[in-house]
Amino acid sequence: MLVSTSKDTSLKTVLGNLGLKDGDLKGGTLAVHSPVDGSLMAELAETKGAEMDRIIKDANTAFKAWRQVPAPRRGELVRLLGDELRAAKDDLGALVSWEAGKIVSEGLGEVQEMIDICDLAVGQSRQLFGLTIASERPGHRMMETWHPMGPAGVITAFNFPVAPWAWNSALALVCGNPVIWKPSEKTPLTALATLNIFERALKKFGDAPDNLLQVVIGRADLGEALSASRDVPIISATGSTRMGRAVGPKVAERFGRCILELGGNNAMIVAPSADLDMAVRAITFSAVGTAGQRCTSLRRLIVHKSIKDDLVQKLEKAYSGLPIGSPLEDGTLVGPLIDKAAGDGMEKALSAAKSQGGTIIGGGKAEGVDGGVYVNPAIAVMPSQTDIVKEETFAPILYVMEYDTLDEAIEMQNDVPQGLSSCIFTLNVREAERFVSDMGSDCGIANVNIGPSGAEIGGAFGGEKETGGGRESGSDAWKGYMRRQTNTVNYSDELPLAQGVKFDI
Ligand code: NAD
Repeated sequence: MLVSTSKDTSLKTVLGNLGLKDGDLKGGTLAVHSPVDGSLMAELAETKGAEMDRIIKDANTAFKAWRQVPAPRRGELVRLLGDELRAAKDDLGALVSWEAGKIVSEGLGEVQEMIDICDLAVGQSRQLFGLTIASERPGHRMMETWHPMGPAGVITAFNFPVAPWAWNSALALVCGNPVIWKPSEKTPLTALATLNIFERALKKFGDAPDNLLQVVIGRADLGEALSASRDVPIISATGSTRMGRAVGPKVAERFGRCILELGGNNAMIVAPSADLDMAVRAITFSAVGTAGQRCTSLRRLIVHKSIKDDLVQKLEKAYSGLPIGSPLEDGTLVGPLIDKAAGDGMEKALSAAKSQGGTIIGGGKAEGVDGGVYVNPAIAVMPSQTDIVKEETFAPILYVMEYDTLDEAIEMQNDVPQGLSSCIFTLNVREAERFVSDMGSDCGIANVNIGPSGAEIGGAFGGEKETGGGRESGSDAWKGYMRRQTNTVNYSDELPLAQGVKFDI
């Protein structure tokens, strides 16, 4: 019924291909509903809180063996994982669509991101290097070495059910750390499918220790147990700022390492010189793609007053023709929200925007699509950046504000609690350079002439302020999964002290 792509993406086929058997998906206490049509996909057995100690202990046992495996050999496991992901791409991508409501192309894109980070991590496994440093003492050598840390607890959100696991795990594994994964309670099936894919890679690898990857199924309390445990030295948590506020202090209390990837409130500045046709395409993809449920979704449009009316008109036209419907049908560009609470959140935000002086275009339930929570994306033209605009509402709402000078626009872009992604559309090189300079955007990501969403894995991903400050994926993000050690080696027959200190005995 829902399927019109050439590949069979029916849920039964996809689950079967991914090794998820009917019997394992019934009788448990965690009900998993598909946002596509509201149907019950599974009732999964939940991991009990009392099991967490054993799970963490098993991960530490695996650590003791895995850290001894040379890093390039650890990379071989991740290479095999990449191969298995390639083979399972269509099925896992379709399951992402069923469970998270992404359109087919975005579901596949998410799996491609997993493959890409595996490729990066395989190369990185031969590049876990430190510096050598000039010593002030004769006959001495200084260097730094990087060592595995121990189990990494990876907590993930519903909207990217598998890629952030891969960003963390591909690097954690080559760095010598086992992983305990706590996926969102809304998307546990993609996690179990990924575990099966990982086990296929393990089988081919041969001699890896048991429990290199463990998946715990359940709610926030399992994430809390990981955060509180001294035996989980790294916690990488992706989700809302509310969650980060709970996890961050818990990990800090025990001096653990925390990588936080939290909410965003991403903006685009559109300058008078901008290529408006390109801007309209970029705005539409980043504001309505994934039904506005990306951490990097475009939520705020800061437009020069001379082009605001024209741009809003063009956007209205683009929005009016958007194909909204089942994410599994060919041609759909806007799928469902994850659940009813998300739909209620969108309505609440739109009514707040209205009461704060906004003019709303669009919004409301999408006609002719039933089962899931399908909404019309909305544009809210605001008199200024009011309180509601400063909140992240996880739905396709685009707030539009006007500016006069670039200073004003940059100030508005930075004047929100979050600091994930940002961009400017301009053909003026001074404006572009200013935006990415010290005096420009305060976000972890700042782009020129592309939208704020859809990052590549080669760069470090993450943001500042209430986005949490973590960095994952490319650049030197691998260092987040290792401990740095400074070594001084004396190969002389003297024992000089640093800073000329004398201590003769
Ligand atoms: P959420 O915060 O409700 O849940 C995320 C995960 O945290 C889930 O696994 C949940 O069970 C767990 N959790 C919740 N409370 C916890 C606690 N007190 N202790 C430990 N674990 C806890 O988020 P969500 O609704 O699934 O996802 C949407 C949010 O995630 C948005 O705010 C979005 O911007 C953010 N997000 C950020 C990034 C990023 O990279 N910055 C990526 C994806 C999503």
